[in-house]
Amino acid sequence: MTRAIFLDRDGVLNRTIFRDGKPRAPYKLEDFFLFDGVSEAIELFRTNHFTLIVVTNQPDVARGWVSKEAVDAVNNRLRELIHVDDVKICFHDSKENCLCRKPKPGMLLEAASERGIDLAASFMIGDRHSDIEAGISAGCKTVLIGEGDHSSNVIPDFQFSSLLEAARVIINN
Ligand SMILES: [Mg+2]
Ligand SMILES: [Zn+2]
Repeated sequence: MTRAIFLDRDGVLNRTIFRDGKPRAPYKLEDFFLFDGVSEAIELFRTNHFTLIVVTNQPDVARGWVSKEAVDAVNNRLRELIHVDDVKICFHDSKENCLCRKPKPGMLLEAASERGIDLAASFMIGDRHSDIEAGISAGCKTVLIGEGDHSSNVIPDFQFSSLLEAARVIINN
């Protein structure tokens, strides 16, 4: 079966932008920057036969703060810069109570059924505790990048300061 790396986007692959004191998704291509080592990490995962699925909450479209076209443009740039197998996006806000918005595991479960992914042999990597909660709910191993936001009290299996550091450990496990 296929092993996957589920990747949160903002704060894991690319820098966030501070708006009103909170880390937010970049809206414009000129604000979109991958972190150092991300391309190398992606290549390490690929050469070790992991399927790579980005799973990202983008509620700012529903909030009227950014257009869907702008979000699509940023994701297209992401896919030009790194080779991932799919980008799954939840465009809903929390009040819509969808099944895809992390901490729910909907995007991970959908990708797993589409691609025959062995969730127990896969990893969810994120920078917020809601990412870790989604990974645990899907039955994956979980990796927190940075300190997290303590939006829930779940505990990740691993914690690293960068995606490259995480990749080096995961491929040797
Ligand atoms: Mg994030
Ligand atoms: Zn959703």
